[in-house]
Amino acid sequence: MTHMLTLQEIETVTPDTYRLTFNRPADFEFEAGQATELSIQKTGLKDEGRPFTMTSRPTDKHLEFVIKSYPDHNGVTAEIPKLGMTDQVAATDPFGAITDHGPGVFIAGGAGVTPFISILRKQQQEGEAQAQLIFANKTEDDIILKDMWHSMPNVAETFVVDEPGGSDLRTGQIDKSLLQELITETAQPFYICGPGGMVDDVRKTLGSMGVDDQQIITEDGW
Ligand SMILES: Cc1cc2nc3c(=O)[nH]c(=O)nc-3n(C[C@H](O)[C@H](O)[C@H](O)COP(=O)(O)OP(=O)(O)OC[C@H]3O[C@@H](n4cnc5c(N)ncnc54)[C@H](O)[C@@H]3O)c2cc1C
Repeated sequence: MTHMLTLQEIETVTPDTYRLTFNRPADFEFEAGQATELSIQKTGLKDEGRPFTMTSRPTDKHLEFVIKSYPDHNGVTAEIPKLGMTDQVAATDPFGAITDHGPGVFIAGGAGVTPFISILRKQQQEGEAQAQLIFANKTEDDIILKDMWHSMPNVAETFVVDEPGGSDLRTGQIDKSLLQELITETAQPFYICGPGGMVDDVRKTLGSMGVDDQQIITEDGW
């Protein structure tokens, strides 16, 4: 089924990432962490659906997305900054393997954090125990919703960036030594989302640390 969404607000959250707020059709139900395929209702783009994750909670009145724009792809996300109020997008029924399995360790690279925005907002609303977020980016400026993560009492966040930065940042990669330092319990849910190579690497590293593959929640194809 196709749902028609109308843009109500668009704002910049990092130099190349945008938060978009839409009306929520009454029959658009989803689980925290799920995605939909969006197609911009403009000439030449209507048949170009791309998957994006709802970052609002399933109980919120509006629908929110956080979308990274890639101008050099010459594809759909290059059009995101050009969208304006009342522009429309079509959304498919929601899908996706990343859903809420309770507090755990959330490991994200770049825009791969989007499913965790919805899940961790939901867990906060429900008063769940504290979760751990390990979030890697190129630079500090690329950290999506950094202030929100700092303000969430149910999230213990670690930001990892490529180059040395502020005192609340770690430098380097999400590698075995970092994971061994930060993770004290292997019998809990591990959520991973980000570029393909990162997901595979982190999954293998967690396995070598004794994390059961059944405990890993992830999605292919980012
Ligand atoms: C389930 C799921 C949920 C997702 N949720 C989100 C989300 O919430 N937010 C978000 O920001 N992203 C999300 N993504 C990723 C998002 O779908 C892609 O970034 C998006 O599809 C890219 O669309 P595009 O049209 O800009 O580029 P593409 O469809 O990747 O590519 C368009 C063209 O650009 C070319 N191209 C591809 N890569 C490059 C490159 N590196 N350099 C130059 N040219 C290139 C290709 O040849 C292609 O023809 C999600 C992905 C999945 C699978």
